[in-house]
Amino acid sequence: DPRIIAPGATREDDAIEASIRPKRLDEYLGQQPVREQLKIYIEAAKQRGEAMDHVLIFGPPGLGKTTLSHVIANELGVNLRQTSGPVIEKAGDLAALLTNLQPHDVLFVDEIHRLSPVVEEILYPAMEDYQIDIMIGEGPAARSIKLDLPPFTLIGATTRAGLLTAPLRDRFGITQRLEFYNAEELTRIVRRSSQILGIACAPEGAAEIARRSRGTPRIANRLLRRVRDYAQVRAGGFIDRDVADAAMLMLKIDPEGFDDLDRRLLRTIIESFDGGPVGVESLAAALSEERGTLEDVIEPFLIQQGYLIRTARGRMATPKAYRLMGLKPRVENVS
Ligand code: ADP
Repeated sequence: DPRIIAPGATREDDAIEASIRPKRLDEYLGQQPVREQLKIYIEAAKQRGEAMDHVLIFGPPGLGKTTLSHVIANELGVNLRQTSGPVIEKAGDLAALLTNLQPHDVLFVDEIHRLSPVVEEILYPAMEDYQIDIMIGEGPAARSIKLDLPPFTLIGATTRAGLLTAPLRDRFGITQRLEFYNAEELTRIVRRSSQILGIACAPEGAAEIARRSRGTPRIANRLLRRVRDYAQVRAGGFIDRDVADAAMLMLKIDPEGFDDLDRRLLRTIIESFDGGPVGVESLAAALSEERGTLEDVIEPFLIQQGYLIRTARGRMATPKAYRLMGLKPRVENVS
């Protein structure tokens, strides 16, 4: 079922989200360096009684960007207002959001790379000087007025830092990159979620779910719910390793946790492009997928796991990818 590994949040995710989303920094598992740094920045801003500097968080979908923003606001003891790049259509929409903030509040802008250029222009002085210039009226009678804003913290989230324009990127004082979670961290996340949701799950069952979650907490939590369904109907409600295993078999989640698209991508590079190098555009066309999906969702995990490399001439399948497909690596690819 491709929905299991779908990168975006589903309605079911949102419903359960409220109960399992970490609220404090010490409930936010993994991402150790990020947590340590933010702890200091949060504490320092609180001691000075100032708004914390603006934060840019980047990383693939489901790794915890939204969650971290809520955690930061909670730890700062301020409100969080949430919006996203494509939702802010007009300069006035952003002005309305900004002028309604309380001092030191957090404004969270998801997909901040998708702001329109006009809206982005408004953001620059807002971030730098807590001021905005807005146009009143039209035609010859139009004039611009300056408005003072309360000091606030902008938290922007994006899949890749490279998607932002340089002037926007430069205005963030703090930049944090989220990494894929390892199996041990994901196991802790699954165990925490199962405790909160009252799901009986053995440590080995949690580990099995973690191992197949593509390094991603959102997928781990979603898999947990599907395995729970299976356990409830077929196994007296208890998730141990065998039950988790059997549920995964039914869900067609393979031992690496790979998605159908992960496998198709590797297979296409190997079979249609002789292992690469192949440019991302050609690859996207061959797979009938959006280039952005490949770059933001599929490739980062395959690269991190050592199945794919990006070279100046394009993507290449590694010997590990050949072995995964049950094929012998090309001789010149063997390292
Ligand atoms: P993103 O905004 O990066 O797409 P989210 O913040 O929505 O991802 O996180 C997706 C899910 O993963 C949420 O259900 C959240 O509860 C869980 N999650 C994310 N990061 C962590 C973490 N560090 N510890 C525990 N759970 C997490």
